[in-house]
Amino acid sequence: MITTSNGLLFQGFCWDLPADNRHLLRLTEKVAELADMGITSIWLPPAYKGTSIYDTGYSVYDLYDIGEFDQKGTVATKYGTVSELETLIKTLHVHNIRVYADVVLNHKAGADETERFMAVPVDPMDRTKEIGEPREIEGWTKFTFPGRGDKYSDFKWNHEHFSAVDLDQMTGDMGIFRILGENKGFGFAVDSQYGNYDYLMHSDIDQAHPDVREELFRWGEWYFKRFNYDGMRLDAIKHIDEPFMLEFIEEMRSRVNDDIYVVGEYWITDVERMRTYLDKLQFHMQLFDVALHFNFERAGKEEAEYDLRGIFVDTLVNANPLNVVTFVDNHDSQPGQALESFVADWFKPLAYALILLRHDGYPCLFYGDYYGIRNGEGAKKKVLEPLLAARKYRAYGPQEDYFFDKNAIAFVRKGDMEFPYSGLVCVLSNGQENSVEIQLGEDRAGQIWFDLTNNRPEELVLDEKGGAIFPVNGRSVSVWAEKTN
Ligand code: CA
Repeated sequence: MITTSNGLLFQGFCWDLPADNRHLLRLTEKVAELADMGITSIWLPPAYKGTSIYDTGYSVYDLYDIGEFDQKGTVATKYGTVSELETLIKTLHVHNIRVYADVVLNHKAGADETERFMAVPVDPMDRTKEIGEPREIEGWTKFTFPGRGDKYSDFKWNHEHFSAVDLDQMTGDMGIFRILGENKGFGFAVDSQYGNYDYLMHSDIDQAHPDVREELFRWGEWYFKRFNYDGMRLDAIKHIDEPFMLEFIEEMRSRVNDDIYVVGEYWITDVERMRTYLDKLQFHMQLFDVALHFNFERAGKEEAEYDLRGIFVDTLVNANPLNVVTFVDNHDSQPGQALESFVADWFKPLAYALILLRHDGYPCLFYGDYYGIRNGEGAKKKVLEPLLAARKYRAYGPQEDYFFDKNAIAFVRKGDMEFPYSGLVCVLSNGQENSVEIQLGEDRAGQIWFDLTNNRPEELVLDEKGGAIFPVNGRSVSVWAEKTN
């Protein structure tokens, strides 16, 4: 029995799943397979009732309706029912896979009723600028949850609990209407794009309101305890006040469990800004390496023009290796979505080798890359399997980089005594067929190495210094490792 210790996160959904309420069941059937692949944790889709059966869960209507109440025309969510979620999480825990909830605290959508209140329109390109007189508007801000009633919480939302809306029902005007009143306004510690990026969409939650804060803490405690989550992925944090986010994490750790894992979605490529954010959050969390994702996207687009030696330049995994989740693509970056920036098909295996096999970063495998987006389109299961196995069994020990050629780079994992047959040489090319000469040390003299990816058919016999010339096909990756028999 070979032991493994490399962690691997799996994003268990993509954008275009069928709205058939069966995704939770499908995931439950895959749990054993996921554990076998080396998955140690899973990020589940936002489980809340959204605006309709088609809602991905990001347009949250009711945080307490996890597919349990007849609301928005359906009991089940797009993904399934509350009992199916409970079964899935129990099954994941049986297989020692930790479970992260997607936590959406920026906005609510699909209010039950409108209300009239005072608001002022602001410039969408500079939200610090008012572009009209304060006036009474009719906004969708009353959330009374008639289908749930007071079960789990009797908190009802109204305009005092939001900072802005995007529609005046009275006039039909669309825009950004900042809600007026005592202690009202946009959060200060949010992203500075568009002057103040507190407002993203729908009815923007005002986390500065004391009743809102207490309700969200109470909800978080209920949600984590009820479903036994081990961690969370925080949605849209660049639109949420930093002190609130820190307080939320601290509250969850003190009310539920001080081991709760946290990763945040801060969609920005400026590494300095990411580091500042981590500092403000007292390094209580990790961030997705959006900068690395965009390096992958550029490398895929620019093909042989791209200098592979710069693939980790200005990335979070370089700057803060302890606070980073590395990823290739996700539900937002896939084609047709808001943050579309899909990594080119040919570069995907190279990108996955770069997140799965290196020492730094907590890698995240995307459902859409493995099983395909939209009915299996672009599924990379066959290509990714050997890389996942390489992460599970081989990617251990100190790392050495051979980043000398613009179009062919390599790195070595030296291996670790604890993991038999561990150690590897990963070679990547974005141009012609190429090779890199590497010496692995005399203790490896005479060993036979082969390419785990099967991209190269030959076997290599290491010379007296444990050296060989490790080849790679053009626009390809090879992962060389010791033959086991
Ligand atoms: Ca906000």
